[in-house]
Amino acid sequence: MQMGTTTPSVALPVFTITRSYTFCAAHRLHTDQLSPEVNHKIFGKCNNANGHGHNYTVHVTVRGELNQETGLITDVEALDQRVEELVVKRFDHQHLNFDPAFEGVVTTGENLAKLIWELLVDRLPSGRLEKIGVVETRDNFFGYVGDPRP
Ligand SMILES: [Zn+2]
Repeated sequence: MQMGTTTPSVALPVFTITRSYTFCAAHRLHTDQLSPEVNHKIFGKCNNANGHGHNYTVHVTVRGELNQETGLITDVEALDQRVEELVVKRFDHQHLNFDPAFEGVVTTGENLAKLIWELLVDRLPSGRLEKIGVVETRDNFFGYVGDPRP
């Protein structure tokens, strides 16, 4: 058997990079689908009418092939700029319950991580979105892996 004459393509090594971003925002865990009593039972003090704030940290993990020349998988500056523009500016010093994307959606860390995924998944400067992490408090970390669009 004769071997082909084309050079076999060598797979480039794949890495992930995780960048962290912070913003401060208020929210109130509440749904109009349930009675005030049930809301209070489920969400406890997070259901207080005036809401409360968090210093959120968002972890954005991007997956990409190594660029042989630069030794990098993505342009970090371009990534930072995109996340600032689409996520940080949108939520910083805002009340999440008033964001149109949260209309009829409870502003839990889970739903915030999912929304951030949707805001970024097809808007990255390069690479693929691998995971979104939201740190709400010292003890609460929410991770979300959604549908990986290109
Ligand atoms: Zn909270």
